[in-house]
Amino acid sequence: MAGEPQADCLFCKIVAGDVPATVVRETETTVAFQDINPQAPSHVLVIPKAHYPDAASLAAGAPEVAADVLREAGAVAEQEKVAGNGYRVVLNTGAGAGQTVFHAHAHVLGGRGLNWPPG
Ligand code: IMP
Repeated sequence: MAGEPQADCLFCKIVAGDVPATVVRETETTVAFQDINPQAPSHVLVIPKAHYPDAASLAAGAPEVAADVLREAGAVAEQEKVAGNGYRVVLNTGAGAGQTVFHAHAHVLGGRGLNWPPG
């Protein structure tokens, strides 16, 4: 069923506390934690606690939680003190775009200059 935890999902295991993560923020519907392979001085992932495979399916199935994720992305940027100089929120969608974990997540990257277009 949409939103239910998936036994083989790494981020569902982080939500459950079965895989450790450096959690920086948590709400009723979201968790934010340090990316294990940071691509910028500040690189945090914001995920919904509910399992949806990508951002589009999250927005379709639980739009209020999708809004929570985006709100938390902004809160993370403020908390990490990268908001002032600009930061990037990335929603990789599909393997061809670099998505490797199929549980919706927003990357929040900041703390350095960020080129456009991204690679
Ligand atoms: P994607 O490539 O957009 O799917 O992003 C997945 C992200 O999850 C990558 O940036 C990985 O570095 C990150 N990641 C993978 N495993 C872990 C983990 O156990 N803890 C924190 N981040 C992880």
